[in-house]
This record gives sequence, C-alpha cells and structure tokens, in this order.
Amino acid sequence: MIFEKEHELVRQLAREFAENEIKPTAEEVDETSEFPMEIYKKMAAAGFLGIKIPQEFGGSGGDHRSYAIVMEELSKASGVSTIWISSPNSLQSTPILVDGTPQQKEKYLRPMVTGEKMFAFGLTEPGAGSDAASILTTAEKDGDDYILNGRKTFITGAPVSDYVIVFAKTDASAGAKGISTFIVDTKLEGVSFGKAENKMGMIGCPTSDVVLDNVRVSKDDMLGKEGKGFINAMKTLSVGRLGIACQALGLAEGAMEEAIKYAKARHQFGKSLAKFQNTQFMIAEMETKIAAMRHLVYDAAYKMDLGKKADKEASMAKLFATEEAKWVIDKALQIHGGYGYIKEYPIERMYRDIRVTSIYEGTSEVQKMVIASSVLK
Ligand SMILES: Cc1cc2nc3c(=O)[nH]c(=O)nc-3n(C[C@H](O)[C@H](O)[C@H](O)COP(=O)(O)OP(=O)(O)OC[C@H]3O[C@@H](n4cnc5c(N)ncnc54)[C@H](O)[C@@H]3O)c2cc1C
Repeated sequence: MIFEKEHELVRQLAREFAENEIKPTAEEVDETSEFPMEIYKKMAAAGFLGIKIPQEFGGSGGDHRSYAIVMEELSKASGVSTIWISSPNSLQSTPILVDGTPQQKEKYLRPMVTGEKMFAFGLTEPGAGSDAASILTTAEKDGDDYILNGRKTFITGAPVSDYVIVFAKTDASAGAKGISTFIVDTKLEGVSFGKAENKMGMIGCPTSDVVLDNVRVSKDDMLGKEGKGFINAMKTLSVGRLGIACQALGLAEGAMEEAIKYAKARHQFGKSLAKFQNTQFMIAEMETKIAAMRHLVYDAAYKMDLGKKADKEASMAKLFATEEAKWVIDKALQIHGGYGYIKEYPIERMYRDIRVTSIYEGTSEVQKMVIASSVLK
C-alpha cells in the first residue's frame, strides 16, 4: 500500500470527524431513519462530498486513495454515513465527469460538492437489475427534447434528490448500445417517487422508485452522445465498487473494535473472553481477513490514481471485502453472545448494514462475471 503524507492527514481528519460527528449520532440515525442535515453540511464543509471532484468545479481535487480513506474511516462509525459521501463522489459525479460538457460540469458539480443540490443515480428497474442492459425506460426524441417514460427502482437518495441521472433507451432495438444518459430535474412535470423502502439496514438514506411519466427533458440535459449511456454506467460503477469495498472494510474494522472491547470486558468461567483460545483464534482470522481486504481496496485505489484501468481490481476488492466483512461481522456478533442480538449494541446495526454491500452496485455474482471476463479475455 502506497500512501503519501497527505493521506495520513486525510485519515486524521476523517477519523476525528467520525469520532466527533458520526459515532455519537449513529444509533439515533438508525432508529429514526433521519440523517441530520447539519452533519451533511459539515461533510460538505470538510470537503468530503467532493473529495475526488476537480478543484476547478469546487471539489477537493483529491485522489482515489483519499476517497477510500474517508470512506473507510467513516464506515467504522456508521455505514449509512458513507452512502451520503460515496454518492456524490462516485455514482453522481462520475457520469458527469465522464461525459459532461464544460457547461454541464460547471452547472451540476459545484452545487453537488457544496451539498446545495442532491442527486441520484437511476439505472436499476423492476425487471432489470444485474442485467442492466435490459432496461425498458425510453427516451423518445421530440424536436429539441426527449420524452422519458419508465420506472427506476431502489434509487438511493431519490426522495430527497433535486436531479436524477437516468439511463434510458433512445434506441430500443440496439441493446446496450441504445442506452443514453440524461440529467432529469425532479421538479419537472411527470417525475414522481415511490414510497421510501423499509430497508433491513443502511437506515438513514431513503431509497425509492422514480417514476417518469412523459417527462420532457431538453437535449442539453443529455450526458454525452446518444448510445453511450451503458459505457458511462459501467465506468461509473467501477468507481462505485471501490467505494462499496471501502464501506465493507470500514464496517468490518468497526465490528472488530467492538469485538475486542467486548472480549476484554466480558468475563465467563472466571476470565475474560479474550483469554479463551477460541476467541483469540477468531480475532486472528478476523484481523487477517481485514488486512487482505485493505490490500485489495488500496491496490484498486492506487491503480485508479495511476490512471490505469482498474475494473477487475475494483470488482475483486468489492467481492472479497463485502463477502469477508459479512463473515467478520458475524464472528464479532458471536463474540458478543446474546448481547450482540440486542439493538443497544452497535454490532447489531453493523450486522444489518453489511448485508447490502454484496448486493448493490453489482452483486457478488456480477463481480465474478467482471473478474472472469477480464481474466479469460
Ligand atoms: C439499498 C439499495 C440501494 C440501491 N441503490 C441503487 C441506486 O442508487 N441506483 C440504482 O440504479 N440501483 C440501486 N440499487 C439496485 C441494485 O444495484 C440492484 O439491486 C442489484 O444490481 C441487483 O439487482 P436485482 O436486485 O434486480 O437482482 P437480480 O439481478 O434479479 O439478481 C437476483 C440474484 O440472482 C443473481 N444473478 C443474476 N444474474 C445472474 C447470472 N447471470 N449469473 C449468476 N447469478 C445471477 C444475482 O447475483 C442475485 O443474487 C440499490 C439496491 C439496494 C438494495
């Protein structure tokens, strides 16, 4: 893992932020589903919403390793807090950075970084999840506009978004090559949201459907050229997968901290749990898996910083970190015994939060497809 001095400063800043702002409110957010907007504003002020966004558009101009560090440190305290950070840094800014005109970048990235405007990424549909190229949402050309019709599902942040980045078919007969990308203002006539989903974990960032009913979108709000949307989505998801791997890494580390604390404090059979060899072996395996996750995460981030193609590395980091973090957190809960099953202990929240990481932004099976196709090409 290659870090510069600036990365240590970023880690220190993120660690302090996690301790002072995120940890004290994590349980309340999980209980109420409300993420405090004053913390969101503080995230913006700390530069977290635009860590990787170039300074010319108001971002911090940091690299992928800095992004990964912030994601890792905050996830230790709360998984959902990093959805608020990963979204602008990956799924929402990357489509614009990849295909946006200078005017679009200026118009959308600046308010994204300050937190003034919120965005969402609309790819998944009720009938098109892993098979994203099979989306049915259409965008029909009408003079200088496009008319959008369709339904997006499981869209993170949709109910609070000002804009949704929508992937739609401009040519229904061309498969993946018929998909184009649009930035849709959610105030436009015909845009509505489904009810916020009642999720198992990552509570505190609403997820809902986005319904598009004859929504008229100007051609100026198309990102890139017609037919380039699928490539845009895949490039975006590669960066996104790095973020989810970091979420898993941070959650596993957070669980490990809780397990160590508990194993030292809890006594049974006249000694602390930490004195049993079974506990020690569990901790040793957990630590080893976490170290391996960390290597894969920062290897992918470093390759991205070098400007190298890192789709395979991002998928490997996500596959390994999310699958192994589930194992680590399960063991951390086991060390807590019955208390781990009770909401009073943060491990119960972590156990629920980790589950989605091997599902969203491409399931583990999809990551295996990406890795295998890269290896076998
Ligand atoms: C909380 C949450 C937030 C989300 N946020 C967003 C968002 O902001 N924007 C967005 O666009 N989407 C979002 N999603 C959607 C998410 O990306 C999809 O749920 C995911 O891609 C899987 O799609 P699916 O749920 O339709 O499952 P399916 O694709 O139906 O898959 C079901 C199961 O079958 C497996 N499977 C499918 N195809 C194959 C195959 N060929 N070989 C082997 N196994 C296969 C899958 O791996 C999975 O285990 C979110 C989802 C959740 C739960």
